[in-house]
Amino acid sequence: AISIRGLCKSYGHTEVLHGIDLEIARGATTCLIGPSGSGKSTLLRCIAFLEEATRGTILIDGQPLGFEERPDGTRLRLAPPRIRKVRSGIGMVFQQFNLWPHMTALGNVTEALVTVKGLSRQEADARGMAQLRRVGLEARARHYPSELSGGQQQRVAIARALALEPEILLFDEPTASLDPELTGEVLTVMRDLGQEGMTMVVVTHEIGFAASVGQRIAFLDHGRVLLNGTPAELFAAPRHPRLTQFLETYL
Ligand code: ATP
Ligand code: MG
Repeated sequence: AISIRGLCKSYGHTEVLHGIDLEIARGATTCLIGPSGSGKSTLLRCIAFLEEATRGTILIDGQPLGFEERPDGTRLRLAPPRIRKVRSGIGMVFQQFNLWPHMTALGNVTEALVTVKGLSRQEADARGMAQLRRVGLEARARHYPSELSGGQQQRVAIARALALEPEILLFDEPTASLDPELTGEVLTVMRDLGQEGMTMVVVTHEIGFAASVGQRIAFLDHGRVLLNGTPAELFAAPRHPRLTQFLETYL
């Protein structure tokens, strides 16, 4: 599980996360929704340790991510091997798929397995093919990104993240760059992963997806978690006025 306690994040003198407390259950899909600028990506990037929080802590299965905070408020940066160990369990999928254009789908999925994990080419290809099969793209393994649709490219990016065997997978608006007719295939892959018990945190504007696949939904507003609960709890009447306002804008 992920425990976020009192997390604050500033850019320069501007604080954009004002003390986030959030428990993210293992084996469940948690969706983060909220207006533009509310801090969803910043929170996700802090969980991926792509951003360093200014205050507060993130615990991954009880292990502090990056920093430890003492009771007196001083922050202690952990040793690099300890940071790497906790980080290696976290994978991320971005809105922009960020595939290497000069590598095939299989090459994109296996690159880090060879260069970072030190697998042999043969082992990496076997693991890569297994992940491409998982996202339904085995037949496209030798295709280059320019020969794939946006939905297929995003599925390659998901296979690439899965190949590193993460315990937690983070998604930042994975379908936002896709034509509407291509979002379904990506959401289906994510739904299947959720049913297999993958722990996922998904920033999404797809309210239908959040309501049907998210076991928990956190609603962020102005850098705070305003609501946090099951879809039934969040969307049941009487709704929080800020959530109603948000739904009217985004539906
Ligand atoms: P969107 O739905 O538009 O993606 P978001 O909820 O993901 O929005 P964030 O990207 O987390 O919002 O931004 C939260 C706030 O932090 C915004 O006010 C944004 O302008 C600010 N911000 C984000 N990244 C930076 C940065 N690198 N430097 C300075 N300010 C930033
Ligand atoms: Mg964002």
